[in-house]
Amino acid sequence: MKKLAVGLYSGGLDSILAAKLIVDQGFYTILVKFMSPIFEERQVEIGDLNHILPSGYFSLRKIEMGEDYSLLLQSPKYGYGKNVNPCLDCKIFMMKKAGQILKEQEGSFVFTGEVVGQRPMSQRKDAMRIIERESGLNRHLLRPLSAQLLPPTIAEESGLINREALLNISGRSRKRQIELAQKFGISGYPGPGGGCLLTDVSFARRFKMILQEKNKVIQSDDLQLLKIGRHFMIRSGIRLIVGRNHSENQKILAFGKKSDWIFQVIGAPGPISLGRGNLETADFECAAAITARYSDAKAQEKIPVGFKLRKNSHQHILEVSPVHDEVLKNYKI
Ligand code: SF4
Repeated sequence: MKKLAVGLYSGGLDSILAAKLIVDQGFYTILVKFMSPIFEERQVEIGDLNHILPSGYFSLRKIEMGEDYSLLLQSPKYGYGKNVNPCLDCKIFMMKKAGQILKEQEGSFVFTGEVVGQRPMSQRKDAMRIIERESGLNRHLLRPLSAQLLPPTIAEESGLINREALLNISGRSRKRQIELAQKFGISGYPGPGGGCLLTDVSFARRFKMILQEKNKVIQSDDLQLLKIGRHFMIRSGIRLIVGRNHSENQKILAFGKKSDWIFQVIGAPGPISLGRGNLETADFECAAAITARYSDAKAQEKIPVGFKLRKNSHQHILEVSPVHDEVLKNYKI
């Protein structure tokens, strides 16, 4: 077997330590970083890794999570964790992708920074075995931080990698990882967790709301929009997203579809709002009244609000009273 390994790389400390343990055993390592709107960008990139791993021994490959991942998010075989995090299915998905690279490159094994017992859903021993089996990696999946607590992989059994130099970390404590980071001179790594929006309570609430929409297929722009703005459900299938600042207003325009409606108060500073769904007359009035509520003109009795389809420039105008806060509560997601 070639001394080549493929590692899952999140930018977090555990994945950096796992890579360090493997590269230190003389393996050329392809680090795979999965990219999606739901993963918050972590700052440790290849430039930072050059201080930790010997150059020439690793490369970084980025993979965009495409529509197949969005489908998985909607109906995961193993269900969701505490929020809308389908961790088992997500891990299986990533391992399969890593496994494809392993095969193409004729490498020895895939490895991850997983630690036995660290996460309730995907890092229990039984869950780890499901991931090995369903990804097809079986005994070609190595967890260097907990290897000594797990059955030996083929690479360990054959002596290709020295099991004694791997670790036996388990549980939620970060103490040993922090000690190792100090020993290896690793600094500036992000804190544990927090990198995946699917574990975030308010993101999950919005996500569940759009899951209820009939025949809904969640796409990348849906995920982008779920990350920003104030969200309102005017009625089933009709949503309004109101920008909270200039940057969010620009994102709303960028991620909106041609069939979305854009609302903006005329003659006073205010947010850009995006209406999605088959809006009817009452929905336009409600969306305009919510948009007016967040404008600088909200103290006025009547406020002109312009709205148009994102794809064309013909603007309609409605004169509305800003929605009362008591009523607004009913629409908030
Ligand atoms: S926390 Fe998010 S990225 Fe991590 S396994 Fe779960 S769903 Fe996937």
